[in-house]
Amino acid sequence: MSKQEPIWPTDVEILLFYPCPKCQRKMPVIAPLEPTMIKCDQCGYSYPLAPVKVEDILYLKTVLAGGLSLVDENLA
Ligand SMILES: [Zn+2]
Repeated sequence: MSKQEPIWPTDVEILLFYPCPKCQRKMPVIAPLEPTMIKCDQCGYSYPLAPVKVEDILYLKTVLAGGLSLVDENLA
């Protein structure tokens, strides 16, 4: 078995959890930039999501440097 260099991330997404109004399952959704509907994968109920602020998502992605700033350089 040869040791492989770990790959570093090149992109990051913000994952939000929107609770289903019927069954309360917290549905994971990559930050929606526009009003959108999702379907609960547990009970099948469809419901609208409040969208995020685009500029705030861009700010977070910049701060996180595409995920690079989260890497533990001591372990990588
Ligand atoms: Zn549900």
